[in-house]
Amino acid sequence: MRCPFCSNVDSQVKDSRHTEDGNAIRRRRLCNGCGARFTTFERVQLRELTVVKKNGRRAPFERDKLLASVTIALQKRPVKEEQIERMISAIVRRLESIGSSEVSSEIIGQMVMDSLPHLDSIGYVRYASVYKNFHEVSDFESFIGEEKLSNDKENADDKDDNGSEKA
Ligand SMILES: [Zn+2]
Repeated sequence: MRCPFCSNVDSQVKDSRHTEDGNAIRRRRLCNGCGARFTTFERVQLRELTVVKKNGRRAPFERDKLLASVTIALQKRPVKEEQIERMISAIVRRLESIGSSEVSSEIIGQMVMDSLPHLDSIGYVRYASVYKNFHEVSDFESFIGEEKLSNDKENADDKDDNGSEKA
């Protein structure tokens, strides 16, 4: 497993445990090159998925890319790694259950848009700005106006997050 910081392929597993939902094994690794610590997940893949992009190009679905796009939107937000992992796992399960081996990038984006408000409003708006291609401040304003993002909504939506606390 290549170190995300220095690209060294030599790392040690320091800790290995099942994730909360039991669907993956989480490994803490120590890079022998630069000493950085990072986490890897091992999980069952039910189906090979192909993403069809807007321009018609096809690419293999990569969970890590989806995770990266969501992680960027949630940068410095009070959301735990485990919460993001759970959300990504739920999206992947939904994608796998569609029953088609090809999914459009739009459907994936829409699933993220459906899920993110439950985790974090700011991350949601950030993700939407990329997904919906905002160009100017007024795009944000009208989006936020339409969505009526408020604390009330946030609290109401959190109830179904099976008990995990909002940090
Ligand atoms: Zn390294």
